[in-house]
Formats: sequence, C-alpha cells, structure tokens
Amino acid sequence: MPTSKSPVWHPYTQHALQDEMTRIVRGDGAYLHTADGRRIIDAISSWWVITHGHCHPDVVNAIKEQAGKLNQIIFAGYTHDPAEELAAQLLKLAPRGLDHVFFSDSGSTSVEVALKMALGYWHNIGKQRVRIIVMQHSYHGDTVGGMSVGARGLFNAAYGPLLFDVTSIPFPRIGQEQATLDALESVCRDEIPAAFIVEPLVLGAGGMLMYEAWVLKEMKRICEASEVLFIADEVMTGWGRTGTLFACEQADVSPDIVCYSKGITGGALPLAVTLCRADIFDAHYSKDRTRTFFHSSSYTANPVACAAAKANLDLWQVPATSQRVISLAAMQEQAIESFRADSRFENVRRTGTITALDLKTRDAGYLAGIGPKLQTFFKDRNLLLRPLGNTIYVMPPYCVTMADLDEIYAGIRDAADALA
Ligand code: PLP
Repeated sequence: MPTSKSPVWHPYTQHALQDEMTRIVRGDGAYLHTADGRRIIDAISSWWVITHGHCHPDVVNAIKEQAGKLNQIIFAGYTHDPAEELAAQLLKLAPRGLDHVFFSDSGSTSVEVALKMALGYWHNIGKQRVRIIVMQHSYHGDTVGGMSVGARGLFNAAYGPLLFDVTSIPFPRIGQEQATLDALESVCRDEIPAAFIVEPLVLGAGGMLMYEAWVLKEMKRICEASEVLFIADEVMTGWGRTGTLFACEQADVSPDIVCYSKGITGGALPLAVTLCRADIFDAHYSKDRTRTFFHSSSYTANPVACAAAKANLDLWQVPATSQRVISLAAMQEQAIESFRADSRFENVRRTGTITALDLKTRDAGYLAGIGPKLQTFFKDRNLLLRPLGNTIYVMPPYCVTMADLDEIYAGIRDAADALA
C-alpha cells in the first residue's frame, strides 16, 4: 500500500523511491543549509533559477521595500512603477525589434503566452496559419501548450488527449545540422506554419543537448523567409547561462517572440515575461474588443516579483557581473577538461556556464536506473546535482568558487568510481 510521511506531493519525484525530503532552512550564495546542519553546494542553481546566489542582499532588500508598499494589484486597467520600469529596462536589454512585454509567472506560462500571441496574430490578421514547428527533444514546460510543443514520451504519455499536434524537426547533432535546416525549410514551405519554437543553443530538460550559434542563425533566416514566427524560449538559457546575457545574442538573432523566466528575478520570486514585435501587439488592437489578448493569471506582474527582477537587472548593469559569467565559463571549462579523456564518460560538453557529460551506462535516458543512484550519491556528498538519467550537468550560481567546482567534479568522478 502506498504510504507517505507527508501530505505534500513533490514535483518530478517518485515517492515510492524517495519519501524523505531534505529539509532546507536557509540559502546563501551558492550554498543551501539543511535543518540538520549540513551545507550543500547548489550545483544546479535550484532548477536553474539562482543567478547571483541565494538571498542576494540587493534583491532581498528590494523585495522587503516593495512588500511594504504594494503587494499585489489587478493588472487589467491598473499598473505600477515596478512593472513599467522593468518593462522599459527589459526592452533596452533584449534583442532589437521587440517592443512589448507581457507578464506572467512561470516559464510554462510564458510559453503559453507566446503560443497564444502567435496564433492570435495570424487569426487577427485573417490568415489561416495554426501549425507549430518544434525541435526534437525540446522541453517547454508542463502546462498543456508547453507539453504539446515539447518532446512526446514518458513525461506526457498519460495526457495525449489534451495535447495538440505539432511538426517536429530533428535536433541538429554535430555533423547533421544541414538535415535539421533542410527539414525546417521544407516544413516552412509545405505546411505554412504559424510559428517555430526553439530553445536557443541548449536544450535543457531534453538532456542538456547543445548546438552551435550558426545553426540558430540559419533557423531564424529560414523562418523569416517564410514569414514563420520565430519564438525563442530563453527560459533556461537567459540571464547569462550560455555566457552572454541571452543566448540569441551569440547568433545575432532577433526573435519575433521571446520567453524569459527563471533567472529574471535572480531566482528569488516567480515571474516570467513574453516579449514580442510591435505588429504582434498591433494585431491585438481593436476598439471593438474582439482582438483583445484574452490571457491573464491573477498574479500577472506581481509588484514584489517585478521589484526583485528590477534589482536583478540592476546587478546586470554592474560590469563585474558579466565578467563573473565569463570567468565562470572559463572555470567550468577548466574543471571539465580532464573528463574528456575519461573513458567512463562521453559527450563531454559546455556552452557558457553550463557543462554536461554522459556517464556510460547500459541503459540511457530519463528512466535509466543509474539516475536515482547518482542522485542519492550526490546527496550524501552534500551536492545538489540532479542528473537527467545518465546525463550529469553542472549549472551553478555565478558566485560559485573554483574550490566549490573542484568539490562538485570530485563528487562526479567519485560517483563514476562507485557506480559506473
Ligand atoms: N522552457 C524551458 C526551456 C525550460 O527549461 C523550462 C523549465 O525548466 C520551462 C520552459 C518551464 O518553466 P517553469 O518550470 O518555470 O514553468
């Protein structure tokens, strides 16, 4: 009989294997502190959200100050300084050509918004374009639209009837990029789709799969030639992870629609934004209200979350922050280098501050038996690492030290000694 010690149902957690959760009482910088007095290195930025460290004082102070002024206000017909100022700042930093900012509260909802904006655009200008193109192995969130445009398989096998059909193009593996581009070109020509959604440079939950900037640039060029809206899902890749503030910068790509979340508040509070071109907004502009963008969530543009994001953006204005990202990328390269010659690993890779490597095992993929064993091993070593099956990745906050990285990679090497 299933039994659980707690009424709390945890996400992506199999309670039959793990019913005892590690209780965290405090976070500072790259560390988490447990109720039983242990210090854990957060090697995955707590699901990729923490950028400048847990409880960064500037962000904490901004939250405190805003919480004492205005906690929440309906965002339909009302506005507030934190949202207005944040939107203006975002448009200055984002790729050129983006003119409007729609707020929501998670990466998944920013993707839903992007999909609805794209379909709303074509609908409102009177053109029949409804199909979405996606990339194999993608992950765009766990809401129904996010699942529909994400890879089909284990994560959504039970929910098939809820999902809509999409057209998938192959992931551009090294040496096979042209096949991806050809597939995109023919789908754009034959299916006259509404939009193409893609994670730029790194596919996260699909296995930390990396591809080069020129491929991203080419994909954008193909979409543009066919007037297919190009949606960049920078939920994971944004905010410095790939070595530049946004991954699209490396390909000099200006998406038609872009999604940011996770690191937008430095990891302090939930917030997301979807930015779009002026003509997408304009297609939703009509005095008879029929073209209204019918989307909201109760906490849209929550003022406290916006204030946290503003403080986070201020940190990005300090040159030392970008410098820190560049030096973390170099530290990560140094740390992972020796694994390239370690025959127990394959596909040792890095994009910016993200590294990943696959432990050679009999079974691969999310359900590989090695996954939970690795997780337990790392937990016992006071490392927060959460492999995707046999893929181990390191995506730390930018304040992590070389000594921390040494400890993380020693843990990975020891895990291979113990479990490979
Ligand atoms: N898109 C990408 C690329 C992601 O990596 C994620 C989450 O990992 C999401 C969307 C969904 O974000 P959230 O978990 O905040 O809903």
